[in-house]
Amino acid sequence: MTLSGTADTHIINTAALKGDGHGCHAGREQMEAAARAAGKSAALDGYAADYPKGPHDQPQSMCPAFGSLRVGLRMRRTATVLSGSACCVYGLTFTSHFYGARRSVGYVPFNSETLVTGKLFEDIREAVYKLADPAQYDAVVIINLCVPTASGVPLQLLPKEIDGVRIIGIDVPGFGVPTHAEAKDVLAGAMLRYARHEAEQGPVQAPRNGVADRPTVALVGEMFPVDPVTIGALLEPMGLAAGPVVPTREWRELYAALDCAVAGAIHPFYTASFREFEAAGRPVVGSAPIGHDGTDAWLQAIGRAANIGQERIDAARNRFLPAIRGALAANPVRGRITLSGYEGSELLVARLLVECGADLRYVGTACPQTPHSAADLEWLSAHGVHVQYRASLEQDIAAFREFKPDLAIGTTPVVQAAKEARTPALYFTNLISARPLMGPAGAASLAAVINGAIGNRHRFDAMNDFFAGVGSGHAAGVWQDVPRDRPEYRAAYRAKLARMAKQRNVEEAV
Ligand code: SF4
Repeated sequence: MTLSGTADTHIINTAALKGDGHGCHAGREQMEAAARAAGKSAALDGYAADYPKGPHDQPQSMCPAFGSLRVGLRMRRTATVLSGSACCVYGLTFTSHFYGARRSVGYVPFNSETLVTGKLFEDIREAVYKLADPAQYDAVVIINLCVPTASGVPLQLLPKEIDGVRIIGIDVPGFGVPTHAEAKDVLAGAMLRYARHEAEQGPVQAPRNGVADRPTVALVGEMFPVDPVTIGALLEPMGLAAGPVVPTREWRELYAALDCAVAGAIHPFYTASFREFEAAGRPVVGSAPIGHDGTDAWLQAIGRAANIGQERIDAARNRFLPAIRGALAANPVRGRITLSGYEGSELLVARLLVECGADLRYVGTACPQTPHSAADLEWLSAHGVHVQYRASLEQDIAAFREFKPDLAIGTTPVVQAAKEARTPALYFTNLISARPLMGPAGAASLAAVINGAIGNRHRFDAMNDFFAGVGSGHAAGVWQDVPRDRPEYRAAYRAKLARMAKQRNVEEAV
């Protein structure tokens, strides 16, 4: 059944509320079909083009909307508001504060009635008008989560601007945006697009620290704070400077980013953002100054894209490449490693590990293959490393079992599986990607943590011996009567759920 909402140009689709639950577990096909029926096809088709899926549908990672939320919460003078189920908002709020958000998360609650009558959209509009105080905010961001997207809540009908405060409404459903990494691009791209149109209309605000006196390289992708400084030093002999990092920390940095000479696709999955740079006439260069070979190739590519003469490009290479070679030689990594993550910097870390001497066999990334990681893919393949884009947890764990590494770097469940198998493991997001990686500093920072972890294998043996005999899986713990596994119960539930799903499909088809 569909009902017209109060905003007369949109349809609210109550099909979004059917199913086992509302959200991750409600069945992505039904949610997507509901969203399309409610007029969200253009947004979903855009996401499908920008963030191609496959070989399987969706990597197992956190709620994608976290990426957009995080980008909004990290910006000065920006209010970020969620529209979605309370359970989703609870999880996203918890996660954002766990990761150190310093701002409140706005929320417009709803129930079935406000959703199907269109009152939710009116509530969002009211909240936006209340928040849009130019003394406090440059922008208000509204993020539609799964159910409001599937129901067709029409954020596109919000005013584009209220008293000078930009209003940015985006749909970030789990059934349309595959990873939280790509959800960062959804918001960063929407903001760049808005800022580009503003800059096309006339003068815009200068950066807080003034306009750069040299042509800049905008850096796309979240990095450890030292990395842009290192990159600035690498660019200096070519007469270039490091520009803003996108996603930016302030609205006016968006203009400075678009005003770059070249955009550096440090993280290769920011497809919507790259489109805005290209629309602004800026070339986009992939990969990063990582390790010796990566830095060499990157300086050459950036210099060429910025029309710098070969003499000055060579000056930059000659100044830094020997130092990087020395840092790599002084910080060797010894051991076999498998690596996986969902941040988008996995291939860069993999290159650095190989140059440090690690026996790296596998790198899995939840992100898709894009042209901007082509150089990294080619280099890693030439060095015998299997690269798996859109890697699933099963593939990451299969690689761990096949290659039997001395160290597994991965997501939480991969780390857990490795530790259960007495293998040292490091969590990619917190312990590896949040370190300096670029230039000479990168080699030195990575080796210490990797070698330290590999050297701790004996601790896992000691722990395993200590906990010997406490069982595992369904029988983990100390019991008077060890629980019996009941695989037949699970099989029966699975069959029952399959029957119910089939029945529901038949009813919907009638
Ligand atoms: S918004 Fe996130 S947590 Fe909520 S249903 Fe969608 S994917 Fe799941």
